Amino acid sequence: MNSWPSDAPSPLWMALCRETFSASPLTEAVEADVAVVGGGYAGLAAAIELRRRGHNVVLLEAAKVGYGASGRANGQVIGALTRHGPAAIRKVWPGERGERFINLVRGSVDVLYELIDRYEIDCDARRTGWLQPAHSPGRARRVADLAAQWAEAGAPTAAVAATDMQARLGTGGYYGGWEHRGSGHINPYAFAVGLARGAASEGVRLYEGSPALELTRGSNGWVVTTPRGKVTAAKVALTTAAHSGNLWPELRRSVVPVTSYQAATVPLGYAAHKILPNDEAASDTRMDLRYFRKDREGRLVSGAALALQWAAARRLPALVERRLRAAFPFLPPNLMTQFWGGRIAMTLDRLPHLHRRPDGLCAWIGCNGRGLALACAMAPVLADALEGVPDKQLAVQPTEPEPIPFHFVVSRFARLILPWYRFKDSREV
Ligand SMILES: Cc1cc2nc3c(=O)[nH]c(=O)nc-3n(C[C@H](O)[C@H](O)[C@H](O)COP(=O)(O)OP(=O)(O)OC[C@H]3O[C@@H](n4cnc5c(N)ncnc54)[C@H](O)[C@@H]3O)c2cc1C
Repeated sequence: MNSWPSDAPSPLWMALCRETFSASPLTEAVEADVAVVGGGYAGLAAAIELRRRGHNVVLLEAAKVGYGASGRANGQVIGALTRHGPAAIRKVWPGERGERFINLVRGSVDVLYELIDRYEIDCDARRTGWLQPAHSPGRARRVADLAAQWAEAGAPTAAVAATDMQARLGTGGYYGGWEHRGSGHINPYAFAVGLARGAASEGVRLYEGSPALELTRGSNGWVVTTPRGKVTAAKVALTTAAHSGNLWPELRRSVVPVTSYQAATVPLGYAAHKILPNDEAASDTRMDLRYFRKDREGRLVSGAALALQWAAARRLPALVERRLRAAFPFLPPNLMTQFWGGRIAMTLDRLPHLHRRPDGLCAWIGCNGRGLALACAMAPVLADALEGVPDKQLAVQPTEPEPIPFHFVVSRFARLILPWYRFKDSREV
């Protein structure tokens, strides 16, 4: 398992979460129809879906639910992918396949908010919309086109003019952009905790502190071995994302795990009203993305990546503060109080990948930093794949995981591309 260090700073979201959840480690041999490995949104939502379809489900989480990216995210619920709009999706998957996937992305935010409603999850859910301000005129044209494509596909999107964008962000310097009105933001850790409770209430048997160490084929199907127990199951779903270890080595090598950091300000009091007055979430069009949203106590929560990881706890909040104060010059200095990080699974084509083997092993991977809504929407697809729905009818076409060439080197040095991204961003303006 490619785990996040246990002594790393905890996300702010844990302190703001009003609900607790805990499950015991697996200490015996149990049987199930499906063993789900990984207790982030992907695993929890898939376990719920499978259980509601009548399967007997065990979920194994190496640490605590929400311990991976799910509890560490910025919490922006976004009903669009980072790179592909409908036209680009149709190019990759022409015909019915593309349309099914476009529908999945278009409906993904509804799936997330329906889960919140179904299990009455107390995660400060706001459905106030998402803004993507454009940092250059060229990007403004591109995202206006994207907004039109998604609107045509039935999503609540529209282009936003520069003056409107300025009023809604509380800062200028952007050339307009677009909005997705069905999106919003949540406390991402509280959502994971609530999903875990929801899963348990449906009859999913959850075990925390139970890393799957080995996956072997026995006479009755798969045997998933943990330090003190084992699960025998006909089918296994791996939802281990950027934390994937060697249970399926090709799966681990099919993604680049990228570390992304978060930082939060002190509660801003009155100044908070001048930033995002309608309480949307915002992330811009730069390759070295700038993004922010408010929490329920009026903190700004933002983040960034670093090319070199040394002294991240000091350098990253300083970088985020510089950027926030450049955008909002009325903010006082020394305003960053929280810092944490997480790991994102990136695919080379920036699309999610579904993998299925004839022996009952399935996985989906590749949130590419936009996994909150996507992970929830992928749950029925993973369940379909496990139930044997033919390839052609699945919303994402299953493939074999393709290891990235020189994965060892690429995964260690991927972040060194960041200065190039910054150069390209500056050239575009
Ligand atoms: C800093 C940061 C900010 C982000 N911000 C946003 C955002 O604002 N909006 C958005 O849409 N997306 C965002 N994302 C992406 C989003 O968080 C992820 O797409 C999503 O949480 C992925 O969920 P997951 O369940 O696939 O993976 P994870 O949440 O990473 O879950 C994988 C789990 O598998 C467990 N595991 C791994 N190996 C084993 C094993 N062998 N046995 C048992 N368990 C195992 C891990 O402990 C982990 O809990 C962000 C990500 C990061 C890191």
